[in-house]
Amino acid sequence: MIIQRVVLNSRPGKNGVPVAENFRLEQSTIADTIQAGQVRVKTLYLSVDPYMRCRMNEDTGSDYLQPWQLSEVADGGGVGVVKESKHDNLAEGDFVTSFTWPWQTVAILDGSLLQKLVPQLVNGRLSYFLGAAGITGLTALLGVREKGHVAVGANQTMVVSGAAGACGSLAGQIGRLEGCSRVVGIAGTDEKCSILVQEMGFDAAINYKKGNVAEQLRELCPGGVDVYFDNVGGDISDTVISQMNQNSHIILCGQISQYNKDVPYPPPLPPDIEKIQKERNITRERFLVLNYMDKHEASTLQLCQWIQEGKLKVRETVVEGLENIGAAFQSMMSGGNIGKQIVSVSK
Ligand code: NAP
Repeated sequence: MIIQRVVLNSRPGKNGVPVAENFRLEQSTIADTIQAGQVRVKTLYLSVDPYMRCRMNEDTGSDYLQPWQLSEVADGGGVGVVKESKHDNLAEGDFVTSFTWPWQTVAILDGSLLQKLVPQLVNGRLSYFLGAAGITGLTALLGVREKGHVAVGANQTMVVSGAAGACGSLAGQIGRLEGCSRVVGIAGTDEKCSILVQEMGFDAAINYKKGNVAEQLRELCPGGVDVYFDNVGGDISDTVISQMNQNSHIILCGQISQYNKDVPYPPPLPPDIEKIQKERNITRERFLVLNYMDKHEASTLQLCQWIQEGKLKVRETVVEGLENIGAAFQSMMSGGNIGKQIVSVSK
């Protein structure tokens, strides 16, 4: 059977900015028949995520991420529909997901590695299983719960960087749902800032590409910052940390501003900022959503419930066509997305 697939065409280099041309669409074939335990699936949605930048390097720098190989098919979070099954628990028409979905239109997969989806949980919006009801939502929820020390009635102010991205847009809303009294986002355009405030219930948002972030933050967080959901690192984070209160908490979610640089993760803070962090007893522990697998099922149900109740507003930026996945990745890495970046492969 003839299929389309996307392979890694070239590596951007450890310090390079990834571009669409690092990926290549090509025609390939898969077997016409499947073996016992296998399923043939049609791909519906694929996720592009910042961690994939590390997979473009020969050495990802972490033991839980495998590098993509040149001229081999890329993979990541995906959702599809079963077209043929020789697996006992899966039938034609079932919707399924996996973290290691190949970037191809049709695939033969081991049924035991797939998770069956219940579309009703997300009002039929299957792509949400890659975002708000998937690993992105879990990252936001478990980040806040495990590292945020948010308490109802504690009158805490939360700041979120990368706030209009997939994790950030959910993290701010979850911070509020969990008890923060004030939530301020930092994002890269006026449009993003306005969506955060008008749609997602943030109290205020700062466009970090305009004006003085430190001054705006001081105005918008007069009582200082108690919880910082950090997606970006770098200068923005240094500015936020400088305004954090004694015994406050950083949720070290990601450091996207550093991903095109050959630096260790998490990158060390500059000495003056590290001094503030230590003197004020600000926690900055490493957070990895995959370390909380035992909490994923219950947390997913919580996220789905909030989505159904309209308490969690979800935004997606959907790009059509497998051939555009490289461009979608490039755009997402430079902030071109609002909410979760999804590639629709259904045609
Ligand atoms: P996303 O949707 O791409 O959002 C990230 C946002 O960051 C972008 O929309 C972009 O918007 C902003 N950004 C990009 N480059 C920037 C820079 N140089 N300086 C400041 N802002 C920049 O990504 P995501 O899926 O939400 O992921 C967010 C972070 O979470 C990433 O660092 C990712 O690695 C991390 N993550 C961690 C875990 C975990 O287990 N710890 C799990 C999933 C994701 P603007 O610049 O326009 O604001």
